[in-house]
Amino acid sequence: MTTRRPLVAGNWKMNGLKASVPEFRRIVEGYDAALRARTDLMVCPPATLLAGFAAAEPGSPVGLAGQDCHPAASGAHTGDISAEMLADAGAGAVIVGHSERRADHGESDELVRAKAEAARRAGLLAIICVGETREVREAGRALDVVRGQLAGSVPDGADGENTVIAYEPVWAIGTGLTPTIDEIAEMHGAMRAHLKERFGGQADRIRLLYGGSVKPENAGEILAAADVDGALVGGASLEATSFLSIARAY
Ligand code: PEP
Repeated sequence: MTTRRPLVAGNWKMNGLKASVPEFRRIVEGYDAALRARTDLMVCPPATLLAGFAAAEPGSPVGLAGQDCHPAASGAHTGDISAEMLADAGAGAVIVGHSERRADHGESDELVRAKAEAARRAGLLAIICVGETREVREAGRALDVVRGQLAGSVPDGADGENTVIAYEPVWAIGTGLTPTIDEIAEMHGAMRAHLKERFGGQADRIRLLYGGSVKPENAGEILAAADVDGALVGGASLEATSFLSIARAY
């Protein structure tokens, strides 16, 4: 049996200023030897804070990640940030295909795949997000839609070193709602099976995170579900105490 090291990643979204450095420090301080021994921890601040966080805690065991990247390495793309720039600022990973990007910026599976390829080119771990809307779940099509997103968004050559998948039901993000544990396990099992069809044994090494209203109160139960290898945490990651308590729940 393959053992996958759990990963708990905090997506700060469009929150945080330079004044947030002490909060990041509290996360680093709380990532003690016991926690480090069993779980990877990562913070995904706005791009403006990456270099500052990296400089505030040089060599920190808490990973840093961007929240999006452009497929190109450089060029005439005003306002965009490349994977290479994120790496240069201190990131070791980048979220791609978050549902807020897919909804707010009309990002397609094809574009998300190109971004994941860009991440790999720059030596970053790609955290590829997928997840169904409420309408899709109510129509009984959640498994099919997520399998389609995986087929379209995950590049060839994905493996445990370059790719993490985050299952984030759109209706669970920031709402306080979560799927049942059985629904999470069913989806994660279906995702693993889909990845195995495409990547064979390597699929056993790809970590599958759950994201969507993970809190200290529900983290233990969610993280114990079959095929859940960690969590992508939004709101509850903004505060060190709650983020660390989620990480400790694994
Ligand atoms: C997210 O945005 O990735 C997320 C999971 O948000 P929240 O935990 O706030 O639902």
